[in-house]
Amino acid sequence: MLVEEILNICKKENLRKVFIQVPEGLSQYAHKISSKLIEHGITAIVSVDPCYGACDIPYWKAELLKCDAIIHVGHTSLGDIYIPIKTYYLPIKYEIFNSEALDVLSELLLQRGYKKIGLVTIAQFLEVLGKVSEYLRRKGFEIYIGEPSGRVVAKGQILGCNVSSARNVVNYVDAYVYYGDGVFHPIAVYMATKKPVFAVNPFTGEVKDVSEEGERIIKARILTMAKVSDAKRFAIVLTTKIGQFRTVLLETVVDILRKYGREFSIIHMENIDPEIINHIKDVDAIVILACPRLVYDDYKRFKRPVITVSELIESLKKTYNWRFEEL
Ligand code: SF4
Repeated sequence: MLVEEILNICKKENLRKVFIQVPEGLSQYAHKISSKLIEHGITAIVSVDPCYGACDIPYWKAELLKCDAIIHVGHTSLGDIYIPIKTYYLPIKYEIFNSEALDVLSELLLQRGYKKIGLVTIAQFLEVLGKVSEYLRRKGFEIYIGEPSGRVVAKGQILGCNVSSARNVVNYVDAYVYYGDGVFHPIAVYMATKKPVFAVNPFTGEVKDVSEEGERIIKARILTMAKVSDAKRFAIVLTTKIGQFRTVLLETVVDILRKYGREFSIIHMENIDPEIINHIKDVDAIVILACPRLVYDDYKRFKRPVITVSELIESLKKTYNWRFEEL
């Protein structure tokens, strides 16, 4: 199926050599995908390097390999990045509608007295969002699906680093419902809005309130900001992943560290690995200029305190107003 979809793109766009990015779960099929396309006369190079999102499209690799285009499997495009080579997106889609899970959710929402609901999802479940919304409406809930802004392209869609679709309806809702797997995305909704968030997993039928988990991360972040406020030596760690690199912010960080008289270094790492960063000596704190979720979700893997740019500013000013850093 995936091979056919790629083949159709190649035929339609007259592509002879392509660089294909697949998510981790599909890397086991790398040989199958590449060899099948080669049989059809397409030089298909399948990249099995880790890739966590559409923010991570290494176009220069495709250019070095003289490919006609990139085919990115797994995610939708991001609205705020320009890729200087033709790129086609093949998001993985699941049309799983789990009415039993929505019944459990409805009971829980009624028990807690929440009637006005902000509904969000990820790219993989966008196709089924309308049906979920209709089902909940018929049960008497008022459903709000927010317009996206920034890098998100579809109404109701969220990313781990951008929950604008949720934020844009924050004044109308009592709580949020996330329809999709995992807790990575709904936790971001809680952290950005501080309203209760219920995650409904269409695969397992599990319904989970993730608000406590989000609150725990926020408390840990505020403690870290306080810890870092008197740190003397900072390493700014940045990546050049196309959707994570922030040139202007690098200048802001450099300016603010200079203003507060702190010693600092600038370190580059494409895939930021805490184990390697932990080896760097003579540093008190790390500023991460990359995916903010590295700070929120992986901070325990770093030996030194890690912070986002907005946390750094608040920390040096000693004001400690925490906010979710959205890309
Ligand atoms: Fe996901 Fe982080 Fe990339 Fe945002 S920056 S799309 S959260 S990996």
